Amino acid sequence: MKRFKFKGILVILYTDAHEFVKDFFDPPQGAILDMDSIPESAGFADIDGKKISIFKRLDCSFEDLFATVAHEMGHLITGGFIDNPTRAKGYNKLHEKKAEHYEKFAVNAYRLAQRIYSENLK
Ligand SMILES: [Zn+2]
Repeated sequence: MKRFKFKGILVILYTDAHEFVKDFFDPPQGAILDMDSIPESAGFADIDGKKISIFKRLDCSFEDLFATVAHEMGHLITGGFIDNPTRAKGYNKLHEKKAEHYEKFAVNAYRLAQRIYSENLK
């Protein structure tokens, strides 16, 4: 397990499926993990704690990891753009703000996934 900070978010990275399952699912003692049912990547978001936990198999594809990281980062978005009507007439500043917000979100999710993907965990 490895920990690091990214944009104020504590990231906990697992590559050991046993460790990940033990920390999140409280398996009964002596339980055997069915390795064939382990996903390429998985995650949990602790919204209050600004923390995400990511499990990544060593053979995980980048796209699978990216989707997991984007999903967990999405849980940390507060507020959103509820007041910004998607069918507003014409262009306004809110549209630009919204586009910039999600562009930053996607770029940050991409960079974090890239960092996790390339971490040398041995
Ligand atoms: Zn979720």
